[in-house]
Amino acid sequence: MAELHTDGGETDTTCRVCGDAITKKHTHRVVTAVEDGQTTYDHFCTDDCLEAWVE
Ligand SMILES: [Zn+2]
Repeated sequence: MAELHTDGGETDTTCRVCGDAITKKHTHRVVTAVEDGQTTYDHFCTDDCLEAWVE
């Protein structure tokens, strides 16, 4: 009986640029990348942060 479930929808997802916690923000952007066969997800709180990271 392992207790491995995560608690109620709360995640540690934070913006890659500004470090803000991202909790159901409607401006939330996710960039998916595949490196060495592993899928990674980069999260950004807004398009502005996404653009800042891409540049
Ligand atoms: Zn941000």
